[in-house]
Amino acid sequence: MAKKLFSVLQSDLSRCYVTDSTNVAIHHIFPGSGRRTHCERYGFIVALRPDYHNMSDHSVHDNPNKGLDLELKQSCQRYFEQHHGSRDEFRQIFKMSYL
Ligand SMILES: [Zn+2]
Repeated sequence: MAKKLFSVLQSDLSRCYVTDSTNVAIHHIFPGSGRRTHCERYGFIVALRPDYHNMSDHSVHDNPNKGLDLELKQSCQRYFEQHHGSRDEFRQIFKMSYL
């Protein structure tokens, strides 16, 4: 049975995190095959309108580790450090620190 996706950053994954649009794609905040599963486990997921996701030059996929993408990664890392473990533990799971 597929596990239901949840996000620690927003309660409603049917609306865009930035614009509130209902035209959304689900984004795993820490991409890469090994990290997707961890994103789902910890709720490090957001809903984004396609242009903020990967369909424009201001999308998170086109601007890794800056702007909105960095903001999302840092928010999740802060959440992890408040609720789950240390920065070292975060780094072990997600391969690098964003703070
Ligand atoms: Zn994505």
